[in-house]
Amino acid sequence: MRRVLLEIAELERSFPSGEKRVKVLKGLNLKIHAGEMIAIMGASGSGKSTLMNILGCLDRPTAGSYTVDGKETGRLDSDELAALRRDHFGFIFQSYHLLSHLDAVGNTEMPAVYNGINKKVRAARATSLLERLGLAGRGHHRPGQLSGGQQQRVSIARSLMNGGEVILADEPTGALDSKSGMEVIGILRELHARGHTIILVTHDATVARQAQRIVKIMDGEIISDEPNPDAPDAIAVEGRRTSQAHAHSRWVTQFGLFLEAFKMAWIAMTTHRLRTFLTMLGIVIGITAVVSVVAVGLGAKKKVIDDISSIGTNTIDIYPGKGWGDIRSGRVETLVPADLEALGAQVYVDSLTPNINSSEQLRYRNIVASASIKGVGEAYFRVKDITMEKGRTLLKRDIRNLSQVAVIDQNTKKKLFPNGEKPVGQTILAGNVPVAIVGVAAEKDSAFKDENLNVWMPYTSVMSRISGQQFFSSITVRVADGMSNEIAQQGIEHLLTTRHGTKDVFTRSSDSILKTVKKTTTTLTLLISSIAVISLVVGGIGVMNIMLVSVTERTREIGIRMAVGARQTDIMQQFLIEAVLVCMIGGTIGILLSFGVGVIFSYFVSAISMQFSILSIVMAFACSTFIGVLFGFLPARNAARLDPIEALARE
Ligand code: ADP
Ligand code: MG
Repeated sequence: MRRVLLEIAELERSFPSGEKRVKVLKGLNLKIHAGEMIAIMGASGSGKSTLMNILGCLDRPTAGSYTVDGKETGRLDSDELAALRRDHFGFIFQSYHLLSHLDAVGNTEMPAVYNGINKKVRAARATSLLERLGLAGRGHHRPGQLSGGQQQRVSIARSLMNGGEVILADEPTGALDSKSGMEVIGILRELHARGHTIILVTHDATVARQAQRIVKIMDGEIISDEPNPDAPDAIAVEGRRTSQAHAHSRWVTQFGLFLEAFKMAWIAMTTHRLRTFLTMLGIVIGITAVVSVVAVGLGAKKKVIDDISSIGTNTIDIYPGKGWGDIRSGRVETLVPADLEALGAQVYVDSLTPNINSSEQLRYRNIVASASIKGVGEAYFRVKDITMEKGRTLLKRDIRNLSQVAVIDQNTKKKLFPNGEKPVGQTILAGNVPVAIVGVAAEKDSAFKDENLNVWMPYTSVMSRISGQQFFSSITVRVADGMSNEIAQQGIEHLLTTRHGTKDVFTRSSDSILKTVKKTTTTLTLLISSIAVISLVVGGIGVMNIMLVSVTERTREIGIRMAVGARQTDIMQQFLIEAVLVCMIGGTIGILLSFGVGVIFSYFVSAISMQFSILSIVMAFACSTFIGVLFGFLPARNAARLDPIEALARE
């Protein structure tokens, strides 16, 4: 006796119908042997397709058992069932169930895709199968370009792709004229002769007579199961079909599946170009907004930082008192020349200068102006990074000799010498003191324009001849290169506290201003970006929306793919890739567009230039990919969770 391949026992299947359940299959028992050709007959609605779907592992019984080669299918999970369908079963449907956007080869090779067979091998096998079935030269025709009989032969080729040990044909001739119908039956008989197990559902007695055994079903029960003495002689057996070897590693398989899913996604996207474009638009706008806003933010930040840096690099100001607004600070007279010497000896000090301010009237010939006279040390210009336009800076000997010399700024030059006279060498009156101009400072490139008239003189001269004040208003220290501002600041405070016996000074570092500004601009950029991110989220929801529609539209495709052995993960991957692809392309367009925005921006705004950082571009790309995954997940999961039977039934 031959091997029992498929066996069902007390098999029941019921469907919910309103409140109650309708039993469609009522306790069937059937043994099907390897290599048999069996016809299942019955009136429409008797449960033949339901039985076939269970035999083909597309559906599960409600009760009873179904074993394939001794394996109980009830204990298999959905992936294992998919593997069974892929490796052992081949389906032929009344309505062919071919994918209309793939050609004959593409349809035929589909089961091998999910088996991880490489592209060349499977295309060659598909082509030779099609040739064997009389479709030579039709490999690149789409289903729409083939006749019904030809389409059915493509679906037979597909069922044989992975071997097709058991071929389940559900009314394969139902939609065909009798000639093509008989051709299809002829092919099935030939396959039977080659050793395939054929299960054929039909309500046509002539078709059924081709099988060796006829099982009749009525209202979900087997009413007869008899050998068919009229069966024509078997066609010469050409030996058993050879089974495919699937020696591919998991990795190669995964990669092949990925490529295939990628191709499918591409086809799906290009079939609905306008829709894909509109879906993408949300992502494009979102990414453009985010990248541009971040670039403007970075540009503004850079501008502000440059401006602040131009005030002076790494300086620390020392003021008397306990902090800003300390009313006693005016009376703290402890910052004295001796402190200057002590500070100058510290390693972290590059150079330093005291400051004394005094407002005086300047007079040159008949021009009078009020100016700020600043008593400073010789290092002042180095500390403040001020360069000279003409003449020299103040020198050590000027300080030592209490010289009546001055360096003036551009404002003073313009005010006192409007007719273009050379200021250097001229003598002006500061208050009542005659002062010789020795230098003119160059204009500083800074956003913070000082409208004051500034005149710098040796602090010794200011102390003794102009203001009479014997202590400094402040001391400014330029921190040595490579020294930390914080350490310098602590060192200064410690030194002066020790010298004065009490903490009566406070310090402000240019670094801390810079830090505050950096923090503020970063916060602002983040704030604006988060608003832009909202548009990105809206775009993502758009993608999700369209993907959900796409899943609904392609339910039948999903069903067919599952019937030929696609796992849930394969389906999920396909839809996820599609969502990610839309978002990634959208993201790339968005990034390019924001470069365009940058170019246009530079025409209108000259103060700030947009700063595109590699990081923000990489982030934008990663972000759009992430949105694809995030918003593609739900539709992809919906697709993967579809019941293959219901999916196939959908039109
Ligand atoms: P046929 O012998 O014509 O192939 P089917 O197996 O398709 O018959 O259907 C048998 C019965 O089961 C029919 O009455 C049909 O309405 C019912 N049926 C089939 N599938 C479902 C389903 N998914 N839900 C509810 N009823 C179903
Ligand atoms: Mg049916």
